[in-house]
Amino acid sequence: MIASSDNWVVFGLGVTGLSCARYLHRLGQSFTVVDTRSEPSGLAQLQEEMPEVSLFAGDIPLAVLESASQVVVSPGVALDEPLVRAALEAGAELLGDIDLFVREAKAPVVGITGSNAKSTVTELVGAMARKAGITVAVGGNLGTPALELLSDSVELYVLELSSFQLERAGVLNLAVATVLNISADHLDRHGDLPRYHQAKHRIFRGCRKVVLQRDDRLTVPLVAEDVAQISWRMREPELQGFGLRTEAGVESIYHGFERLLPVSDLALSGRHNLANVLAALALGHAAGLAMPAMLEALREFRGLPHRCQLVAQLQGVSYVNDSKGTNIGATEAALKGLGGKGNVLLIAGGQGKGADFRQLREAVQEHCRHLLLMGEANEALRTALQDLVPVSSVANMQEALQVAAAKAIAGDVVLLSPACASFDMFSGYAARGEAFVAAVKQLQESGA
Ligand code: ADP
Repeated sequence: MIASSDNWVVFGLGVTGLSCARYLHRLGQSFTVVDTRSEPSGLAQLQEEMPEVSLFAGDIPLAVLESASQVVVSPGVALDEPLVRAALEAGAELLGDIDLFVREAKAPVVGITGSNAKSTVTELVGAMARKAGITVAVGGNLGTPALELLSDSVELYVLELSSFQLERAGVLNLAVATVLNISADHLDRHGDLPRYHQAKHRIFRGCRKVVLQRDDRLTVPLVAEDVAQISWRMREPELQGFGLRTEAGVESIYHGFERLLPVSDLALSGRHNLANVLAALALGHAAGLAMPAMLEALREFRGLPHRCQLVAQLQGVSYVNDSKGTNIGATEAALKGLGGKGNVLLIAGGQGKGADFRQLREAVQEHCRHLLLMGEANEALRTALQDLVPVSSVANMQEALQVAAAKAIAGDVVLLSPACASFDMFSGYAARGEAFVAAVKQLQESGA
């Protein structure tokens, strides 16, 4: 696959770029690493592990790109970056880390993308496979980069894939692929919804089985008839699909006409997580996992931190950390999944990524009693929503919690689900979630 005359360039370091460099290094391929930042993350590891690799950080000579035969572009680098364009115009082949991964992987690969719920579903399918006694490797856009999962002992790979990874990927030939859902996100980088949709649907190229949400046309791929389709939906399932039925007042999960388990047996809560459970079952089934093991995993899987996580209940008020709700679709799902009628005090704001917050109007009107807004998108959120419910601007998380606690009554939910990225005020969504948890603790200690 690799010829000695090839002139490989890894564009963009960071966690993924470093994994690409390690991979090429392992193969004995010479390559150059470039990054437009003068001190990119991963620099120290690169220099320590591969001191002989040539590197240009900050100042990149055009000739390096123009003489490249292959350019592996990290997900953080935009494809319209002028130096990437120069390489492609000079005839270089464009690759992403997942292209390199699928060339090497010997076990079947399940690929999962979508605007929201990727990590939850990826981890859930991983947990199902582990219960089934399979040696499974889980990662990609979440946790360990795909190339660092490669091992001959792995029997199944479950990868979360981002729109940025897919945008630069070729034909991936996955065993099972899905687009869980599509709502506006990252439009500051993808331009518009059709282009974002197109990037995500690249996951289906060459795949053998697809999982789709039958009632959501945006998840339905254009694939050949011989590609097996396994569907799910939030109502009675199709004959071979997964879905829900209520009989004698008990709502249960079904596979066709077979009752699998009552919804009340799930460890996850919220309607949006029911969708995630159905998608994971369809994916696990497509990957050949045994049903009893999958159901056992569903009874135990409690979800991931920072995703609609109940932090505390103080004087009848629930405090829920959904810091990973970083776009409108996620916050809408969290409000609809957890909220009752007008009982949510929503903490939102941060970096808006070009989103139109008016899309939150219906969910806010139905579920919110008060909005606590912070960060760069404060004004945009206020303008879009202030005629619906009272709004307070807050300077930081502590103030948000203090104001929320003063206004909340028993039965309310104080929900951090910002609909925005966190980087204006925090190092990432996890730090934002931890700030929320710390502020709730303070409330608890002050006896509020
Ligand atoms: P991703 O990896 O795609 O960001 P996560 O599993 O980390 O997905 O969940 C991110 C957020 O998406 C959650 O915190 C929640 O607000 C929201 N979410 C979870 N499930 C769904 C769903 N089925 N549809 C829409 N939003 C969801």
